[in-house]
Amino acid sequence: MTGPGTYTITAADRGSMARCGVLHTAHGAVHTPVFMPVGTQASVKAMSPRELSEAGVEILLGNTYHLDVRPGIDVVEKTGGLHRFMGWDGPILTDSGGFQVFSLAARRKIGPDGVEFSSHVDGRRHFLGPREAMSIQRRLGSDIAMVFDECPPYPCDREYACQSVEKTISWAASCAGQERAPGQLVFAIVQGGAYADLRRRCAAALVEMGFDGYAIGGVSVGEPEDVLLGGIRDSLPPLPAERPRYLMGVGRMTQILEAVAEGIDMFDCVMPTRYARNGTAFTRSGRYPVKAAACRFDARPVEEGCACYTCANFSRAYVRHLLNVGEILGVRLLTIHNLHRYMEFMTEVRKAIAEGTFGDLRDECFARLRKNEESPPGAGQEV
Ligand SMILES: [Zn+2]
Repeated sequence: MTGPGTYTITAADRGSMARCGVLHTAHGAVHTPVFMPVGTQASVKAMSPRELSEAGVEILLGNTYHLDVRPGIDVVEKTGGLHRFMGWDGPILTDSGGFQVFSLAARRKIGPDGVEFSSHVDGRRHFLGPREAMSIQRRLGSDIAMVFDECPPYPCDREYACQSVEKTISWAASCAGQERAPGQLVFAIVQGGAYADLRRRCAAALVEMGFDGYAIGGVSVGEPEDVLLGGIRDSLPPLPAERPRYLMGVGRMTQILEAVAEGIDMFDCVMPTRYARNGTAFTRSGRYPVKAAACRFDARPVEEGCACYTCANFSRAYVRHLLNVGEILGVRLLTIHNLHRYMEFMTEVRKAIAEGTFGDLRDECFARLRKNEESPPGAGQEV
């Protein structure tokens, strides 16, 4: 069976909960664990769809909130839907806009049916709730739609977390009953902040409704590492093993390894693209600033041994020069490399799970990367 929504587990690690799988969507198969680059404004910043395919990208993330604000969903719909609009015929997951409404929009008024807010761009009033979010995602024609949820900030008190869980559950029920695009899957989102019992309650209630997949939300919002891991562990037990599990907005490689070991299948994060724009390269041994003076005379590629277009053709000195004078090509070349590194990393993860060496890969990566990942928590979440 390869119809949309079919999820086949192809390998499982003996020493952890890590597994490999294939998720079928209306626009093709996705091999998990998978990393989804973020295409906030119907574009993965600085990359063409051809370059994404060449980097090994299988699935992208699009943002309902941003597309609703600009250019407007009617523009995307009337020009053929999101795949055609952005020239990408592979799978697309759209978020519901919930995270942006709660983190970006101004003058929010939360009611039982959704949230009224002012756009962060022009102040225009918008309303987004479960009905609107599902309708927008149907009109965009994404392969995976996310339910509209309330993402509480961190830290947040128990009462607020409790209310937001109840709202998330009732909104998820409303989303489940909405019309979908042909073959569109719908994933629910587990909330509950740092409260184990609330996360379990939320997850169990969502599973009762029977979604195509389940996401863990309310993470990567500035919480410490142990709270993030706790949130994953508290959310997972009620979730059915045969459905894909998606950890939202988490993208540090060590975090990905930890989460894969817990049984997470899908990730998205702006890190590879955003860090490229800041002049930072990801490599096997961690990350470093290509803009640094140390690279001024460096004739080596961004990463020695890397097979990407950037590393095959250009030196660090050249990429550094482009970045320092603000040439667009500098950002493009570094984004190509960073995405290549991320995709290669996920290939290594899948291969290790399949070959029974995931534990070794994890230990080895931690030894290499841990000291080099000192960025503040929450840095990876796109708003
Ligand atoms: Zn490279």
